Amino acid sequence: MSSIQTLCRLQAVDQEWTEKGHRYQQIKARLADQSELEERRAAHERNTAQLLHERAALRDAELELGSLSTKAKAVDKALYEGGTMAPRELEAMRQNSEHLKRRISVLEDQVLAGMARVEELDATVAREGRDLQAFEATFAQEREALMAQYAELRSRLQALRAERETLRGNLAAPELGLYDELRAKKGGQALAPLKDGVCQMCHVTLPWHKAHSVETEGGVVTCEGCGRILYKS
Ligand SMILES: [Zn+2]
Repeated sequence: MSSIQTLCRLQAVDQEWTEKGHRYQQIKARLADQSELEERRAAHERNTAQLLHERAALRDAELELGSLSTKAKAVDKALYEGGTMAPRELEAMRQNSEHLKRRISVLEDQVLAGMARVEELDATVAREGRDLQAFEATFAQEREALMAQYAELRSRLQALRAERETLRGNLAAPELGLYDELRAKKGGQALAPLKDGVCQMCHVTLPWHKAHSVETEGGVVTCEGCGRILYKS
C-alpha cells in the first residue's frame, strides 16, 4: 500500500471510528438509563399503597357506621319506649340520639366519597399495572436489541483501533503529523480527491506537475486551495 492509499484507509477508519464511537456512547447511555422504568414502577407502587390505605379507611368508616347505626336504633327504641324515664334522662338520651345521627350522616358522606376514591384508584392501579407490564416487555426487548448492537459496535471499534494502529505504524512521522493536523483543522477531512486536475473539495485547479505527481502517486501532494492531501479519484 502506498502512503496515499494508507492515508485514505486511515481516514476511512478514523471516520468510521468517530461515527461508531458516537453511536456506541449513545447506546451505552441508553442502557444505563432506567429512569423511565423506575419512575413508572414507583408511581405504580405509590398508587397501590394509596389504594390499600383508602380501602382500609373505607372499611373502618363502614364498620363504625354499622356499629353507630345499631347503637342509634337501640337509642331510638329506648326513646319510644322510655315512658318511665325521668325528663333529664330522656333529654340526655335525645341529645345522644342527635349526636349519633350527626356522626352517622358524616360517616355516610365519608363512605360515599371513600367508595368513589377506591373505585377510581382501583381502575388507575389496574390500568397502570397493565401499562407497566407492556412497558417492561418493550423495555426488555429494546434492551436486548441494544445489547446486541452494543456488543457488535464494541468488537468493531476494537478492530478499528487495531487497524488504525497498524496503519499509523506504516506511515512516516511527517505524513502522519500533516494528516493529524489537517484532520483537526478541516473537520475530519484531511484528504481530498483530485479529478482532472481539480480538487474535489475546494475546486481549485492544480498546476500540471503537481496533478501529475498525484496521478502517479509520487508522494504526498497538498492542494493549493484547501491544503488537503490529494489522492486520485
Ligand atoms: Zn482543495
